[in-house]
Amino acid sequence: MDISLPIKNSTDTIVVRKIFCMAKNYAKHIEETASEKPDMPILFIKPDTAIIKNGGTVMLPEESNNVHYEIEMVCIIGKSGKHINFENAMDYVYGYAVGIDVTLRDIQLQAIKSGHPWSIAKGFDTSAPISEIIPKEKVDDPYNLGLRLWLNGELKQDGNTNNMIFKLEEIISYLSRFFTLERGDLIYTGTPSGIGPILSGDRIRAEISNLVTLDVQIQ
Ligand code: MG
Repeated sequence: MDISLPIKNSTDTIVVRKIFCMAKNYAKHIEETASEKPDMPILFIKPDTAIIKNGGTVMLPEESNNVHYEIEMVCIIGKSGKHINFENAMDYVYGYAVGIDVTLRDIQLQAIKSGHPWSIAKGFDTSAPISEIIPKEKVDDPYNLGLRLWLNGELKQDGNTNNMIFKLEEIISYLSRFFTLERGDLIYTGTPSGIGPILSGDRIRAEISNLVTLDVQIQ
């Protein structure tokens, strides 16, 4: 079933296609996870059944005892392309949103240890909350956007997109060497520092500058 995302202050929607996510794209987050700065973008994919919209509920799987929030800027692709040049990569961007890359940390760490994929830890149902979309014309500078996340009213993450290691031009150009990008593809661009655990009954609010807010509850 197609999942469409609302565009802020519009009746238009965009149907979600592929969901790409960047790992290790902020230096302080790499420090807090005691991992190493990558030479190339590190990417994984979530299925569209991971999407929940503003006001939705993250359903914690019984199999995990350590689930984390990760606030991220999400880039929405506006048109198809393959082998896209760095120089015109931004022409392929429709807009931006704020998202949360919900992660089963215990299952992810076990997978890393065993050399197995992260698919379950990162792609389970409801693991990709996302706000309304802001068209790029409404955003002065995508590399100067505040990313703030509150857990039960307490500020937990307070980052800025100016600290991204791989910028959108690099990510889009790199991704399009392997994947045809299409309108409705999403790119979660990685989390700044301050990640932490969530429990049933928690409430999360995430905000990208003063552009758009995302509220979800945890069950
Ligand atoms: Mg992430």
